[in-house]
Amino acid sequence: MSKKSRADSAQSRPTFAADAARLPWLALLLEMYHTTDQGVAQGIRQAERQGRRLACARGCAACCRSHSDIPVYPLELAGIAWFAVEQLGGAEREKVRQQLAQHKDIASCPFLVDEACAIHPLRPMACRHFNVFDRACAEGEDAFHTRRGDVLTPVAFHKDKALALMLRHHEVPTEAERKARVADGSVHRLAQSLREVRWENLALRMQG
Ligand code: SF4
Ligand code: SF4
Repeated sequence: MSKKSRADSAQSRPTFAADAARLPWLALLLEMYHTTDQGVAQGIRQAERQGRRLACARGCAACCRSHSDIPVYPLELAGIAWFAVEQLGGAEREKVRQQLAQHKDIASCPFLVDEACAIHPLRPMACRHFNVFDRACAEGEDAFHTRRGDVLTPVAFHKDKALALMLRHHEVPTEAERKARVADGSVHRLAQSLREVRWENLALRMQG
């Protein structure tokens, strides 16, 4: 979704090294996203070997307007808030702040600015996973429903590993238990819809 070159970003790894060193939860989140991006890159490569062509590109953002059911997990919310408060600046920050304050009245994702994701390095796993092949989405189209066969299926190994990593944040004590919660799907009970988050609270933090 809202790509700043999705295939490229799937390969690059934001580090925020100094912040990650003092914020263990951020280091964990970045590790989770690195694993996610590795799976996305692998899935794209596999599809391209079968003759598919990635349609997602910078400036293509119909999905960020049409998708209303993007899951976002607590650790991801912490990352988004950190990035918005600590990393965004200038006109982009002000635009995001305004959109967060008015998010109930706007149709698109509040982080969409000038057809690009303002929180791109910290965008949620669901956004990282959603890739479409061969033809860009039409305005208002959700390709998952209109042409499922053109939507990337995330590589299960990386997706599951990323979710299991995330469960460390929730103090699920053992690897076996984390894997079990991923396998039985109960991990997803932690998620809420991005559009239903009380973003006005983040807008206030950005103002302060
Ligand atoms: S092709 Fe679809 S999923 Fe990909 S960036 Fe464009 S609108 Fe989003
Ligand atoms: S967080 Fe919003 S703007 Fe960013 S990729 Fe996801 S839907 Fe698009």
